Amino acid sequence: MKALTFGKPGRIGLQDRPVPVPAVDEVLVRVAVTGICGTDRAIVLGEFPAKPGVVLGHEAAGEVAAVGPAVASVAPGDRVVVNPTFYCGRCRTCRRGLPAHCEAKDGREIGVDLDGTMAEYVVVPDRFVHRLPASMSYRRAALVEPLACVLNNLRAAGPRWDDRILVLGAGPIGALCALVLARRGARVALADRDPVRLELARTLLPREVRVRAADGAGRGAPAADTVIDTTGTLPGGILSTLAAAGTVVVMGEREAAVAEVPLRSLVTRGVRLVGAGPYRPADFELALDLAADLPLDSLVTHVLPLDRYAEALALLAVPLAGPHPLQPPAGPATGYAALKVLLASNERMAS
Ligand SMILES: [Zn+2]
Ligand SMILES: [Zn+2]
Repeated sequence: MKALTFGKPGRIGLQDRPVPVPAVDEVLVRVAVTGICGTDRAIVLGEFPAKPGVVLGHEAAGEVAAVGPAVASVAPGDRVVVNPTFYCGRCRTCRRGLPAHCEAKDGREIGVDLDGTMAEYVVVPDRFVHRLPASMSYRRAALVEPLACVLNNLRAAGPRWDDRILVLGAGPIGALCALVLARRGARVALADRDPVRLELARTLLPREVRVRAADGAGRGAPAADTVIDTTGTLPGGILSTLAAAGTVVVMGEREAAVAEVPLRSLVTRGVRLVGAGPYRPADFELALDLAADLPLDSLVTHVLPLDRYAEALALLAVPLAGPHPLQPPAGPATGYAALKVLLASNERMAS
């Protein structure tokens, strides 16, 4: 099978791999589509560590192709979505009810240190495979995982009904935050500095979302009671525009990101600075349930076949040279030209 493989930072390529064989409690999924996520970008750019030789991809939906002998929850032919946030259920942290923080994650993060979904097939333990409602497209299902991340972070934010909520970063995660909040009747603004992403946000999101240009320091962003920072940079100017007793959730994940925080404002103005951690298993179930009524697929601007991965990454400002295995980057990033981009592993299933 074809598999998009990580070599080392800046080097990825299509490799020919044997189709994996499911173990006793595993499911072999014929992948339809995989979303390209900020984590995938960061891995390719060398900003997020991944295991050399690993197959990339974790936001995927597809069809069950085969199951191990102990699997009863799904059967060949079932349409499914993969929950890529594995947990062991046995370590102390799992047993304390915190599976999101499982201590046994090493070697269990698909697309990072365990072979992922940007391939024609992937094997996954049965408890991380969820059946899709008949009406849900694979395109929409591929956004269930990012929606789970968003719901987890919105819960950590815990906004009040009358809060002015500012989402920083108009990438797919920021746009998903805005979409969910607008659908719930929240007062939400979305800020970014990238003109293409601002235009996409204006075009694709509900009209209630106020889209604003802001620079990298957050200048230009409207005042808010709650800030969701999906950029992973915590722009310095944001704390000064935050209302008293406001909350900032730091959501973007960058390996070496450091922010300078004036501690006095936390003390005197009662500001909360929060990290939500990975989503819980229940968040994935909730996301799958809510996805039935949320037009998540409206954020998908491009679906490209697996062998056009270089083009797909170029749309996300990650330059690669061409369709040669494990090639180096072609040059400096040129800017975003897309919102959510999906790679189709099997084109007849891409819708
Ligand atoms: Zn992701
Ligand atoms: Zn565990």
